[in-house]
Order: sequence, then structure tokens, then C-alpha cells
Amino acid sequence: MNEVKTPKKPFVILYIIAMIVILGINFVVMPLMNRRAIKKVDYGTFMQMTQEQQIGEVEIRSNKILFTDKEETQIYETGLMEDANLVQRLYDSGAAFSSQIIEQESPFISFLISWVLPILIFMYLGRVMRSRMMKQFGGDDSMMFGGGGFGGIGKSNAKVYVKSSDGIKFDDVAGEEEAKENLAEIVSYLHDPSKYQEIGASMPKGVLLVGPPGTGKTMLAKAVAGEANVPFFSMSGSEFVEMFVGMGASKVRDLFKQAKEKAPCIVFIDEIDAIGQKRSAGSQYGGNDEREQTLNQLLTEMDGFGGNTGVIILAATNRPESLDPALTRPGRFDRRVPVELPDLQGRVDILKVHAKKIKITDNVDFNKIARMAAGASGAELANVINEAALRAVRNGRKAATQEDMEESIEVVIAGYQKKNAILSDKEKKIVSYHEVGHALVAAMQKHSAPVQKITIIPRTSGALGYTMQVEEEGNHYLMSKEELLDEIATLTGGRAAEEVVFGTVSTGASNDIEKATRLARQMITRYGMSQNFGMVALENVTNAYLGGDASLDCSEETQTMIDKEVVELVESMHQRALKILRENRNRLDEIAEFLYEKETITGDEFMEILNRRPKYAPPLPEL
Ligand code: ADP
Ligand code: ZN
Repeated sequence: MNEVKTPKKPFVILYIIAMIVILGINFVVMPLMNRRAIKKVDYGTFMQMTQEQQIGEVEIRSNKILFTDKEETQIYETGLMEDANLVQRLYDSGAAFSSQIIEQESPFISFLISWVLPILIFMYLGRVMRSRMMKQFGGDDSMMFGGGGFGGIGKSNAKVYVKSSDGIKFDDVAGEEEAKENLAEIVSYLHDPSKYQEIGASMPKGVLLVGPPGTGKTMLAKAVAGEANVPFFSMSGSEFVEMFVGMGASKVRDLFKQAKEKAPCIVFIDEIDAIGQKRSAGSQYGGNDEREQTLNQLLTEMDGFGGNTGVIILAATNRPESLDPALTRPGRFDRRVPVELPDLQGRVDILKVHAKKIKITDNVDFNKIARMAAGASGAELANVINEAALRAVRNGRKAATQEDMEESIEVVIAGYQKKNAILSDKEKKIVSYHEVGHALVAAMQKHSAPVQKITIIPRTSGALGYTMQVEEEGNHYLMSKEELLDEIATLTGGRAAEEVVFGTVSTGASNDIEKATRLARQMITRYGMSQNFGMVALENVTNAYLGGDASLDCSEETQTMIDKEVVELVESMHQRALKILRENRNRLDEIAEFLYEKETITGDEFMEILNRRPKYAPPLPEL
């Protein structure tokens, strides 16, 4: 219970309120209820009524006298007095003695109100509190309140998305045609399981959706449920483990119990790596019993139901290689559906899907936006559209324009413009030369992507400026050795420009250097483009989706040689960049000056100056 920090305060208040309510009932409501029909009179009136024989019933209590008139329409109350022959006089007046003029606090009711009601209120509070904690910790009931008494609470938190016409369909997921094709079979199975059962085919119980974050894995899972018109349960792997010990396993149990009741249905487990990590890898940190138990329970559940129960488990991960092999064994998650980052057409489609939700002007060129957003995920593209709409509103427009879109790409992908971060004049000059250095080196090489935009407006990402290059034919997956070399030269171009112009270097190039070094290293160890080693893979890539946790797979001498070759490679490209910039010094100066003035220049403006000014040095010798 110590973990429960946040909910404490509100519940103290709730308890206080409950106490007030109970006390109020005892001391205010109850007496009021009784007094409702009672009229208080003085003893004189009582004596008079006795004398006039107007008393119907009378009851003498220890501290008061209750009586009614002859018609018994009104109950009266008066105090008790020293009155010796009261009883005799009453008898003479013909009053009937009663012991129950009003069903005063019948012992049963007062017992209910003063004992049972408070207990019920506290029970109710307990429930509320517990279900709140459930939500917070995703727990189940076995831990608290000695096994939870009041039934039905503390079941797993899986949200049930019952089929609905506005559910997500495959059409809402743009691009990802391959993944959709893969999943179509499951939809067809859920539609008509008998077709499959007749022939003896059983569906995979588990399907792993593998791909980087934001590519639409959750959407696809929902779309499968939407297409098949079946309930959708979803839970995140991290929800299973971020709670009290022992809960993960029982939560898994609950989830599957619910799912089996609702079959056919889809169970979606997001971030399955949170529970499904390789067991050996995790246990060295200790304290992973909880996760292991949860994983074991999941495996047990999956083995426990037959292939034709109609429960299909979809799980998402971006690190498939970190999963415990037990999970991917046949009969478990034995099918894998890659959900990759969208290609150019995919990006156009995603942009269009999301643009339907906002108002846009006619001039919006999705193709151009998609080109500018190479490498963006579906989630990022959705964000671009939303940002564009927000920007349009900010600028008092009724619809988002092409400019809004382009600007929001920078917002989403490169961080917000830091308009108020003021660079000193000198800094601005250095950054201008640095960026133009990149652009110029790129432009003077055959295999570089054309420059789209250069800016020296700082971003919150920390970059003081950047040069955006855009591939003409959209994405491409294969890069030639020449392209890689040109890329490295371009990366060193920023630093080279600083050297050429100012004769000194700044710290602004650290990111460039890092990238150039990484590329050079990959060329040698991964792509077999080394002069010394040729086509030998020198490393193991263990985590291809998160940029690659590569480990070197070679002897120490080899490593030393690799390091040496990396240094040589980067240095030779650096020399190439220096040479290009020296030979194009007049262009460098003019464009940097222009950029310094305007802060942002387009690729067209860049090319215009470049072509207007011939370089003065002799032609570039072949490298
Ligand atoms: P993942 O589960 O792979 O991390 P999600 O499915 O949660 O990604 O996607 C997040 C959001 O990004 C979605 O709600 C949707 O708006 C957008 N999105 C991602 N991929 C696509 C896609 N292929 N088509 C349309 N929208 C997408
Ligand atoms: Zn740079």
C-alpha cells in the first residue's frame, strides 16, 4: 500500500465527507423524521386535554409523554412532570395506553442507520478507491483488501472496443499494403472460421507486427478488428509490469478470460518487448521475476487455447530480436508482419488521409511535402498536417496552405523555430558559411541529393542551422559507394568552410563529425566497402530497428586497422570538401552573404547564384 501515494489525499477527504454524512443522518435526519408528525405542547395543554377527555392514545416514556387526540390525527409531545395521579386521571378520561404511538427509532432501523449504513458507505468508498488505483497501477484485486470481496472489480484493464461502424478500417491505414495483405487472411478467418475449420487449417494464434514507432501498428490491429467486426482488446506490455508484484500474471489471466468469453475477437498487446524480453538478458539486473511470471503466464495462456478458439493475438514491437525465443515458437507468435516506414507514395497517401480531416487550399502539393519528409513515420506525418492546420489558424487563415505544410515539416522534424534565440553577428556569419559549406560541397558532387533549403534560424533541437537535401526520386534504399563518399564529404563541408574562411574551427560541427564517422565506419564494417578488408562483415547488428546496436565481431588488431581506415576515409573526404570550397570561394562567399542577409534561402535561389557565378579555379580533377 505504500506505493499508493497520489490517491491518498482525495480519499482522506472522501472519508471525512462520509463521516459527516453519517453523523448528519444520526443527529439531524433521524430526529427530523420522527418529529415530523409530532407537535410539542406544554403540560398545561396536556392536562386540559385530559380533562376534556380529548386524549386518544397515550404513552408515557422515561422522559416525555406522547399522546394523540381522539381522532388520532395528530401526535403531541410534552415533558414529564412530577404528577402523582396522572395515570389514574388518564384512565378516567378514557385514554388508551399504548406503547407505540410512533414507530419511533425502531431498534432495527436505528441499527441499520447507525451500523449498516456506515459500513456500506465505507465499502463503497473502498471500491471507488480500489478501482481508481486499478486505473493508476493497472492492478488486479488479489493484492488489496484481502482478495477483494465485492465481485467484479479489479478485473484486467483491457479496454473493450466493441465493434462499431466508426471503427478503423484498412482504408484508414495508408501505405502498408503488404501488411494489410498479410492481415487480410486473419480478417477472412474471423469472418468465417468454419471455412478454415472444414479444411483443417488453423489460424496462427499470434501475429507479431514489427516496425519502428508511429508506423501504424496499433491502427492496423484496430483495423483488423474493424474489418472483421469483432471486439478489440488492447493492453500495453508495460502496463503488465508497472504494478505490484504478482499482478502481471493475474492480469494476463483476466485478459484472456475476458477475450475467450468475447471470442471471436482481437487481443492487441502493444510494446510486447516490455514483458517478452529474453529472459536471460533481463535477469542479470535482478528483480525481473515479475516480468518473467507475466511472460510465463502469457505463454501458458497461448498454449492453453486451441488454434480455433477465435482469439487472435496481435502484438507490436520495434525490437523483435530482443524477444524471448519462447514467444516466437510455433503455436505462439509464429507469424511476423513487417510494418515499415512509408515510402514516397506511402507518405503521400498518409498525408492525404490526414489532410481530409482539415481544410486545405488548392495549391497544396502533397508530393512535394512527402519528398521533404523523407524518413518520417505515419505518426509524424499526421502531426505535420495537424501542425499545418494550427499554423493556419494562428495566421488567421481559413485553410492550411502549402507554406503551412512546409513550415510544419520543419516544426515536426527539426523542432520549433527559436525566433528569440539571438545569435551574435559573428556567430551568424560562421553558421552561414558552415551551412553553405555543406550545400556547396553537395552541389559540386555528382551523387549528392539536391539542396532544398538552407536556413540559419536556430531550432529547439539545438541545431543552429541546417541544410535540407531532397532526393529527387524519393526514397532509395540502396546507396552506392560513391553516394556514401559524397555524403561524408558533404558532412565535412560545414567544418571545411569554417576552416577555409576563418582559418579556425568551431564546436558547431560535432554532429556532422559524428555522422560522418558513423557512415565511414559502417562502410568498412558493414557494407564491405573497405579497401583493406573487402567484403567481410565485421560486426553483428543486433538491433536493426533502433538504428543498430552493432557490436564488432573481430580481433583487436582488426579493430585497430578499422579505426585507422575510418580516420583515413573521413580525412580524405574532408580534404575533398576543402578543395571544392577553395575552388569555389567566390560562390561560397556570395551565397553565405546572401544567407546571412535572408536567414533562409531556397534551393532555387541557391542554384541561381551558383549558376550565375562561374568558379574561377581550374576544373576539379577526378578524385
Ligand atoms: P504504432 O502503433 O506503430 O506506434 P500507431 O498506430 O499508434 O503507431 O500510429 C499513431 C498515429 O499515427 C495514428 O493514430 C495515425 O494518426 C498515424 N499513422 C501512423 N501510421 C499511419 C498510416 N499508415 N496511415 C495513416 N495514419 C497513420
Ligand atoms: Zn553542419
